[in-house]
Amino acid sequence: MTDQPSPESRDFIREIIANDLASGKHPGIVTRFPPEPNGYLHIGHSKSICLNFGVAAEFGGRCHLRFDDTNPTKEEMEYIEAIQRDVRWLGFDWGEHGYFASDYFEQLYEWALHLIRAGNAYVDDLSADEIRAHRGTLTEPGRHSPYRNRGVKENLDLFQRMRAGEFPDGTRVLRAKIDMASGNINLRDPVLYRILHATHPRTGDAWCIYPTYDYAHGQSDAIEHITHSLCTLEFEDHRPLYDWFLDNLPVPSRPRQIEFARLNLSYTVMSKRRLLQLVREGIVAGWDDPRMPTLSGMRRRGFPPEAIRLFSEKVGLAKRDSVVDYALLEHCVRDVLNRSADRRMAVLRPLKVVITNYGEGEVEWLPAVNNPEDQSAGSRTVPFGRELFIEREDFMEDPPKQFYRLAPGREVRLRYAYLITCQEVVKDGAGDVVELRCTYDPATRGGTTPDGRRVKATLHWVSAAHAVPAEVRLYDHLFSSSEPGAGDDFLADLSPASLEVLRGCRVEPALAGLPVEARVQFERQGYFCVDLDSTPELPVFNRTVTLRDTWAKIQAKGEANR
Ligand code: ATP
Ligand code: MG
Repeated sequence: MTDQPSPESRDFIREIIANDLASGKHPGIVTRFPPEPNGYLHIGHSKSICLNFGVAAEFGGRCHLRFDDTNPTKEEMEYIEAIQRDVRWLGFDWGEHGYFASDYFEQLYEWALHLIRAGNAYVDDLSADEIRAHRGTLTEPGRHSPYRNRGVKENLDLFQRMRAGEFPDGTRVLRAKIDMASGNINLRDPVLYRILHATHPRTGDAWCIYPTYDYAHGQSDAIEHITHSLCTLEFEDHRPLYDWFLDNLPVPSRPRQIEFARLNLSYTVMSKRRLLQLVREGIVAGWDDPRMPTLSGMRRRGFPPEAIRLFSEKVGLAKRDSVVDYALLEHCVRDVLNRSADRRMAVLRPLKVVITNYGEGEVEWLPAVNNPEDQSAGSRTVPFGRELFIEREDFMEDPPKQFYRLAPGREVRLRYAYLITCQEVVKDGAGDVVELRCTYDPATRGGTTPDGRRVKATLHWVSAAHAVPAEVRLYDHLFSSSEPGAGDDFLADLSPASLEVLRGCRVEPALAGLPVEARVQFERQGYFCVDLDSTPELPVFNRTVTLRDTWAKIQAKGEANR
């Protein structure tokens, strides 16, 4: 079944695809998502995943997951498995079409021999440094390698011996013979194969020569009959080379490369090298640390996959790089969670309240709505008793004018329960407030006031006798700079306040025993999810996002200025 976007909502890529289908150029479309398994997927990748799998679904085609595993020194099985898990979690399915560039090593090798026989490739004995020095610059043409005019026979012999393992790493490469004077440096005899005596996560020690990205990528596309090879802008200058290979090899199909702008996010680093450094140096707890921009980190943080897909849709496609505001991502997360997350009460920094006129040992179970945005979520009951906890910051002994919450002599509403009035403040020897003694008004059950009197604040609370102890981890941006690494050292931009761990929190009984990754709203505080460090005795919650929607504010300001 196809669900094609309306012509107005089409971006330039969907436009091209729709035209190619309409003109009959392709009977159906095939795309691919081609990660290199040298790290975990991040939010930038999700843009490419949503695009490739998205257009395939919209136009009734299919999308392959292809690992671009051509550099064994950096690639690991752990990454392959994590990538598969994350693509599935995001909501996409490659079905039978999971592939590896390493599946094509033999075919790619055969095609390299084909290029050599046609005089289109040669073995070069220059070192990597010498090759670089010969390459020239944007303003100067390159120089020919002294090995460039080797005969076909010698090239075939040397290349076969490279494969047989006769030469040490770095001593020889296979290069395409194109044009050392080309204005496009990618066409100045690019390297196709290098010698690497390294164990590959899938092919083991079967190979000691490995194809470069440029050589492997387009040919893998052609083998899989990819119709539209969508990639990020930095490959635009590689497109002539991509096409050169297709022109000079007996490939079974002719894919077309189309570039789009990569996603950049404020407050976020996305280079895998930097993410790896954060993990290796123990600056974060792992690839899935909830502060990481990885999909596994976002999952652990509590971001729903729908929110990431929505974000990707809102960002859209462009042909020029830009930086997207992190607040937009959070806005999408709130949007989805507002509709889907049950409300619960949790007290993060507890202050004891004794209701002096409430019966000792008496308990009432009061009805509480699960989600005002979703009738079908139903309701639950919460226990009320003589001893409660409220949030420490909801009380001030000597409140300033704007503080409407609890204070000596003042009345406030306890959500779903009663109105209470603070009668007495109990302090410890150090003068710190340790307990409030309050009275409640039995006529205000459920938080209503039969006499119509108003109170200015409604507080969340839990029953001391029933509350469950919990640990709560408050996360914020990992970096305090909106553009980390704009100076040279991105680590200098790390925020000292990216994680605050609260122990001794008290949460309502309905929050005990939830499965890992369950997402809830703590009333008045934000959205939280159950962390995998939870135990039956001690649930651990991660703050996904606060309730303040800074993006909505940014939008409103924009409207007002218009
Ligand atoms: P590396 O630094 O290892 O080259 P990479 O980010 O290019 O990392 P790949 O695994 O090669 O990682 O990326 C897989 C696919 O995801 C590629 O098609 C790439 O263009 C795309 N991609 C990577 N980063 C982004 C991004 N920030 N926005 C959009 N697409 C991205
Ligand atoms: Mg890459």
